[in-house]
Amino acid sequence: MKIGVLALQGDFDAHRRRLEELGAEVVLVKKPEQLDEIEGLIIPGGESSTFLKLLGEAGLEKLRQFVRVKPTFGTCAGAILLANEVDNPRQAGLGALDISIRRNAYGRQVDSSIREGIFAGAPTEMVFIRAPKIERVGPGIEVIGSEGNDPVAVRQGKIMAATFHPELSEDSRVHRAFLELVSDRK
Ligand code: GLN
Repeated sequence: MKIGVLALQGDFDAHRRRLEELGAEVVLVKKPEQLDEIEGLIIPGGESSTFLKLLGEAGLEKLRQFVRVKPTFGTCAGAILLANEVDNPRQAGLGALDISIRRNAYGRQVDSSIREGIFAGAPTEMVFIRAPKIERVGPGIEVIGSEGNDPVAVRQGKIMAATFHPELSEDSRVHRAFLELVSDRK
């Protein structure tokens, strides 16, 4: 299975390693036309506003078309890019997931932390780094991960998002869940 990892900026290499461990062939996507060769895409953490700058209008439009038809998983900044509505501050995006998300929602004191949440029904280590918070989930959204009372991983059709960084924990279940989503759609 050929999976792309958007490799413009941020934390893409840890995703590459994890996907390869799980047997996927990985394409580091740096140019829009590489989207044509892959069956699914991971948009990693980083800085969502920087992603938008680096993508430019044409890159963003190509990505919008991709996420309409192919499985995509966004982590942290990637989740922000996939959301319908972004605040703190307001920001454009791919409008692929019916959620509202607030950037840097945990404030300075808890900038980054490792907490235990629940993913797919089981306790899971979750690494949060300047994480956003999902503040609203639309009716078509399935919450697949939570931490305390907060949804931290969601799915809508073939689109998945997590506000934490599963590529930084040993547990490979989150990436496995995404690969299952990709293979179901073939
Ligand atoms: N704070 C970043 C943003 O707003 C996301 C942080 C991350 O991806 N680790 O885009």
